[in-house]
Amino acid sequence: MIPSIELNDGYTIPQLGFGVFQIRAEETVRAVSEALEVGYRHIDTAQMYRNERQVGEAIRGAGVPRGDVYVTSKLHNGFHRPDDARRAFDRTLANLGFEYVDLFLIHWPLPSLYDGDFVSTWQTLEAFKRDGRARSIGVSNFEVAHLERLAVEADTVPAVNQIEVHPYLANDDVRAYGRGHGIVTEAWSPIAQGGVLGDPTVRDVAGQVGRTPAQVVLRWHIQRGDVVFPKTATPSRMRENFALFDFELDGPAMEALSRLDRGEAGRTGPHPDRFDYVPD
Ligand code: NDP
Repeated sequence: MIPSIELNDGYTIPQLGFGVFQIRAEETVRAVSEALEVGYRHIDTAQMYRNERQVGEAIRGAGVPRGDVYVTSKLHNGFHRPDDARRAFDRTLANLGFEYVDLFLIHWPLPSLYDGDFVSTWQTLEAFKRDGRARSIGVSNFEVAHLERLAVEADTVPAVNQIEVHPYLANDDVRAYGRGHGIVTEAWSPIAQGGVLGDPTVRDVAGQVGRTPAQVVLRWHIQRGDVVFPKTATPSRMRENFALFDFELDGPAMEALSRLDRGEAGRTGPHPDRFDYVPD
């Protein structure tokens, strides 16, 4: 049984999901179908992943009721202007073949583009929430300063902030701001795309509890209270990553993993203050 976390707007989100970044469109129907078969009921996609259509197809094909699957998508970096964002969101719903998404996010703040204006983009998402086509809205890759600006200039507090978090980048300042302001943290690249799995401490903890390195790292996230959606195209790993709720890490094991934090040096993705990539 996957626990759910309550968001600041009253909706709930399954704490464990399945991420589809870098799953090629032609592989996505298979991968998402297998993930649903394993039991995942939360799929994290994005306009920029170019596989929303296949995510929708897999969910419909599985015969799982729409209301039983939590679906997130995110706004393309090229469509932050309000009119573009509205058209892009219409396309997301058309691609998925759904009348609503459970969660829609601004994918990156892009503070060096659009005259630094992510507030009007956020206000456009607020309208999607008002008209019910996005049950919840949130942000991704927002730093504390970006969240503080929304708090001053906008009406709605984001339900989530999806940021890079794993043992090498604990990102605890941004997480603490979220905790203090009712914003749930979603941890992307939760196993650092595999980069933390060979770590001797991770392997030690795994050995002590008789679990795999991926399982103990994902369990560390769960016990810290974050939402995770590891990506894998491999069915055996889908099952491995799903089996997180029949064991616990004790205090010393949690602390050992937390001590792996390398701060900024542990970041694997771009820094949100500088990222300005706009794909075609
Ligand atoms: P993850 O940390 O989930 O790692 C994925 C990689 O780890 C893949 O190469 C996968 O290989 C491998 N892997 C998965 N499970 C295991 C396992 N049990 N043992 C060994 N290797 C394993 O990285 P992602 O970057 O994909 O992050 C997860 C999700 O977060 C994304 O899919 C996306 O939904 C979201 N995300 C959001 C971002 C944002 O800007 N908002 C940025 C990046 C990610 P294989 O597939 O070959 O099995």
